[in-house]
Amino acid sequence: MIGLSEELTAALLATQDYKCQLCQRDELTLARDFDSTGATRGMLCQRCKTMLGLIETKKYEWPSLLHFVEQGEEHAKAILQQAKLDNPISPSLKARWHSLTEAQFDALLASQGNRCAICFLFRRLGVNKDKNGHVRGLLCRGCNILLGLLSQDIVGMLDRVDYHLIYGVRDARSVLDHVLFRRKEQLICERAAQEESIHERPPWEVWSLKDEAEDSTPH
Ligand SMILES: [Zn+2]
Ligand SMILES: [Zn+2]
Repeated sequence: MIGLSEELTAALLATQDYKCQLCQRDELTLARDFDSTGATRGMLCQRCKTMLGLIETKKYEWPSLLHFVEQGEEHAKAILQQAKLDNPISPSLKARWHSLTEAQFDALLASQGNRCAICFLFRRLGVNKDKNGHVRGLLCRGCNILLGLLSQDIVGMLDRVDYHLIYGVRDARSVLDHVLFRRKEQLICERAAQEESIHERPPWEVWSLKDEAEDSTPH
C-alpha cells in the first residue's frame, strides 16, 4: 500500500483544520483513510477508523440503526412499563441485566423477536442505554460497540459517515490534485526561468559560443 508524501498529507490535514474528518476532534494522531481500491478518503483518528471498519465490513442496516437511535427509547419505555404492570411483584433485580427485572428483559426480548434490534441476528444480547441512562433496547456485542464508537451525536455522525463514504475520495482527490498541479506549475516556472537565464548570458559569452560554432565548421 503506497502512502502519501509528507507534502500531500500536510495539505489534507490543513484542509481538515487538523481535526479528524468524522468526529471533528483535534489533537489526535490522524491516519490516512482509504477505500478498497486504496484511494485516499481523508485523515481519521484511530477510533473513527475502527468504527468505519465495523460499519463497512458488517454491512449494518442503517435504517434499523437510525430507527433504534431515534425510536428505541420510546419503544422500550412502553414495553418495560407493560411488563411491570403484568408482574406487580417483580422478581429481584438482576444486576447483569442492567437493572431490568427478568420479566422486563423477557418482554423486550420478545418484542424484538429474540434478535438484535439493529443487525437482526440471533446473538447473546445486552441492554443498550442512551447517554441519559434510558434503555433503548437489546443489542448484540458488535452493535453495542459500534453505537459506542459512533459517539454521542449518532445521527450527526452517521450523516458525516455517509458523506465520507460517498464523497471522501472525490474531495481528497481534488485537494491532492490541486497540490500536484501547483507543484507542476512551479516546475514549469522554474524551467522557464532557467531557460531565460541562458538567453540572458552576457554578450561576450554568446560571442564565444558563436566562435566555437564557427571554429567547428569545416573550411
Ligand atoms: Zn475521529
Ligand atoms: Zn447486532
